[in-house]
Amino acid sequence: MNDESSVTVIRYGHRPGRDDRMTTHVGLTARALGADRVFFPSNATQAQETVEDITTRFGGVFQARCTDELDAYIRDFDDMVVHLTMYGEPIQAEIAAIKSNATDTNLLVIVGGEKVPFSVYEQADWNVAVTNQPHSEVASLAVFLDRLFEGTELSRSWPNAERKVIPQATGKRVIDTDDSV
Ligand code: SAM
Repeated sequence: MNDESSVTVIRYGHRPGRDDRMTTHVGLTARALGADRVFFPSNATQAQETVEDITTRFGGVFQARCTDELDAYIRDFDDMVVHLTMYGEPIQAEIAAIKSNATDTNLLVIVGGEKVPFSVYEQADWNVAVTNQPHSEVASLAVFLDRLFEGTELSRSWPNAERKVIPQATGKRVIDTDDSV
């Protein structure tokens, strides 16, 4: 990746009530681990609001959007599409090729919830598994982004934050910053 390229995450599918926390956590994980934006289905407005609120308070430039046009967005996406699925090829075998292709390009990363249609598997340039065991969209997204950014996302800065956590060996310390706009 370089400064010109971006990473967009799509949370494909959302069951209100049952998926509320998981969908929100997909967005928060995308933000915290270096993606530029998340697109949710149109029925996930609560997740969008929570992610926007966290971005306002804790900084960074991150977009959260709901749309009923995820299928069209995936279909029309010109650059590289990675779909995370337990049925895909192992991340440890594919990440080097993904990274070398992603240097000058935008990357779309899709994670599912309920059943993902086969068209997504076909439209993806890579169907990637983080182990071939069933687990979670949040876990697979976290491992994928960390492998993509090689850990550099862990020490990024967060401009325009209203609040900042001061790391502590024990206890919690959060300060108001005057860095906010
Ligand atoms: N059968 C699903 C699948 O295709 O991976 C598992 C459904 S799981 C409840 C929801 C989402 O978690 C999946 O759509 C996928 O994005 C992600 N996921 C779960 N296990 C995964 C794995 N081992 N590797 C990559 N992604 C995984």
